[in-house]
Amino acid sequence: MTRASFTGEQIYRGDASICRGCWDQMHVPIPIRGALALPFRAFGITRSKMNPNICTICERSFRYVKKQRQVTVNATILFADIRGFTALSEQIEPVRLTEIVGLFQDHCAQAIWAHDGIVNKQMGDGLMAIFNFPIVRKDHASAAVTAAMEIQRHCAAALKSLNVDRALGVGIGIHSGEVEIGEFSSFRSDFTAIGGAVNLAARLESKADAGEIVMSGQTAAQASHLTSQAKTRALSLKGIEIPVLARVLSKT
Ligand SMILES: [Zn+2]
Repeated sequence: MTRASFTGEQIYRGDASICRGCWDQMHVPIPIRGALALPFRAFGITRSKMNPNICTICERSFRYVKKQRQVTVNATILFADIRGFTALSEQIEPVRLTEIVGLFQDHCAQAIWAHDGIVNKQMGDGLMAIFNFPIVRKDHASAAVTAAMEIQRHCAAALKSLNVDRALGVGIGIHSGEVEIGEFSSFRSDFTAIGGAVNLAARLESKADAGEIVMSGQTAAQASHLTSQAKTRALSLKGIEIPVLARVLSKT
């Protein structure tokens, strides 16, 4: 795993004791582990659920961190969901569904965090992740593709072990480009990403079959060492007139 873009790499390799988001965005060291973190915890500053290496300041205080309502960031957006889940949910007990969703979300989060992404939104059997904010990764496209490959590998093994009586699998869509990041809701204080690049990632995911990683040409080009085996597929996407040439990685 390369972490060349992380400025504090020599000091904070591995499990960071300071928030990597606050460090990368503001160069402010906020302790999130160990004894130094205790006084911060008393003020409600803890590790973020989006990624345990960032803190609730960079999660919830976007305007304070960036001194702006929103910023334009070159990022990679990843959407993942469980294919076949809706049909399955009509056939099996809710407790089994909970187990499947829990496994999926856990495996996704572990892979995303391992490559410095954040789980920005969780939507039951799906999620949205952002790479390159607030933890800076110049190789964010490669980080996202690597995380996606790990998600596919780990989820396939986990779903198989559950012995569910049908072909369940994960579909993933990835796109890299400029997104607007900020707080866009008046009743929620955490940030998210919006814009055409986010929509494209979501639409690519909607075209991914179980076991597939469908990425845009931009992502594939930026992660070329990982995507030489990817097949080209022309997709007609909602709201886009000309077919999009996507690159697809699949198990076989
Ligand atoms: Zn932070």
